[in-house]
Amino acid sequence: MTSNGLVRLCHLYPDHLNIYADRGNIAVFQRRLEWRGLAMEVVEVGPGDAIPPHCNLYYLGGGQDRDQELVAADLAGKARPLRDAAAGGAVVLGVCGGYQLLGHGYTGAGGRRMPGIGLLDLETTAGEPRLIGDVVLDVTLEGWTGTVVGYENHAGRTHLGAGCTPLGHVRRGWGNNGADGGEGAVVGRTVGTYLHGPLLPKNPRLADILLGWALDHAGLPPVLAPLDDSLEQDAHTVAITRTGRKR
Ligand code: GLN
Repeated sequence: MTSNGLVRLCHLYPDHLNIYADRGNIAVFQRRLEWRGLAMEVVEVGPGDAIPPHCNLYYLGGGQDRDQELVAADLAGKARPLRDAAAGGAVVLGVCGGYQLLGHGYTGAGGRRMPGIGLLDLETTAGEPRLIGDVVLDVTLEGWTGTVVGYENHAGRTHLGAGCTPLGHVRRGWGNNGADGGEGAVVGRTVGTYLHGPLLPKNPRLADILLGWALDHAGLPPVLAPLDDSLEQDAHTVAITRTGRKR
């Protein structure tokens, strides 16, 4: 619980899971809070470090299979405090490789299965070809309906169980597995997605939903004053237009 306008973010494995400008997502969280007179403290956690108590948001970025292999066992050892944090209402965001490790496990291209932390009811297995390209999703989240744009590049095919729902439905792109039209996964305040590039600069509404949850967890009013997002919206629109031209 914080009372001084401070949101605490735990950045898990910043030296390993950072393949697609993941720090850009954290910069968006920080700036969107600062523009509202709030602040974010970032705690970086690597292999062997304990999960800090009292964080409001936990972030796991993307990585190549070999990077995921370097952290998967360590992350599995942190499953309990992370699951407790999520059960207590903290936000968890996993992108691509981090998303896969929020599930039950990921069998990489080399055939070895890495354990996940089971926060999301899903399983991932690498396949061919890699699923690459621009993505546009139709999303309904926290009473908001709109589009989320991004880029995907993954070998993993992710299949969701009954315990979570897709973040969105693919209008353009491959999504979780290229077959069922779903992309990402949500349960409670845990969100996973294959979209990176990074995810949040072009999707300010999604950033604010996650920040609202984090503020609520911090014991702060979860109301965020509107910002001038015209630049972000232009980038969002360009992403949709560009994708429309390609396919
Ligand atoms: N290594 C994983 C895969 O290829 C995740 C890739 C990523 O994080 N971009 O599916």
